[in-house]
Amino acid sequence: MATGFYDLPNLLGVKGEDLPKVKHYYDEPHSYAFQKIVVVGAANSAVDAALETYRKSAEVTMIIRENEIRQSVKYWVRPDIENRIKEGSIKAFFNSEIAEIREYEIDIQTLNGKITIPNDFVLAMTGYQPNYHFLKNLGVEISPDSAKRPLYDSQTQETTQKGVYVAGVVCGGMKTNEWFIENSRIHADLIMEHIRQKG
Ligand SMILES: Cc1cc2nc3c(=O)[nH]c(=O)nc-3n(C[C@H](O)[C@H](O)[C@H](O)COP(=O)(O)OP(=O)(O)OC[C@H]3O[C@@H](n4cnc5c(N)ncnc54)[C@H](O)[C@@H]3O)c2cc1C
Repeated sequence: MATGFYDLPNLLGVKGEDLPKVKHYYDEPHSYAFQKIVVVGAANSAVDAALETYRKSAEVTMIIRENEIRQSVKYWVRPDIENRIKEGSIKAFFNSEIAEIREYEIDIQTLNGKITIPNDFVLAMTGYQPNYHFLKNLGVEISPDSAKRPLYDSQTQETTQKGVYVAGVVCGGMKTNEWFIENSRIHADLIMEHIRQKG
């Protein structure tokens, strides 16, 4: 299984999420020019979407559950977003969550109560998750901690279900920044070697 995690976005779970103006995949910035957009999240995808759309003349507001931009944001991008927020070019609500989405406005739950702002598009950059339904149906066990990794032997990549191997970012479970292209290339070699040894 090398199915990644990109097919299943982490949903906001709020009223109005099914409106066509809500995107769980960021496409390109030009279509948001001169529009009021909200970016939900504070990791790399959210930051890239916020900066790109801001630089193509969108009016950008970020809604961030935590009290800061994620530490895992690329170190050369982090100062850019922090300074845009500091100078007010990009608005940010920290310790806040999107509460409801309507066609022309959204509600935000902030530490100081609920507020409503006008809105044209919501970019929900809230991450993705592996297809646990598929993994479990194959008989693969999942770690009981919050990482929810498929259980596998790191020497062979074989899971707890004999003959079922995992490769790529799916190995990290909910830790979607653990594996990437460069460090997961080895998985294919390990799997092939194990199959070869089994004869
Ligand atoms: C914007 C962006 C920038 C990135 N930049 C970098 C970078 O610079 N360097 C880097 O190392 N990584 C980068 N990454 C991460 C990189 O894309 C992933 O690490 C890599 O693609 C993971 O490879 P994978 O094969 O594990 O999964 P994926 O590339 O996600 O491939 C999984 C495949 O499985 C398919 N699939 C899923 N479920 C099923 C099913 N049930 N049946 C059949 N097929 C299925 C999917 O459609 C997909 O084709 C970036 C990611 C994004 C989104």
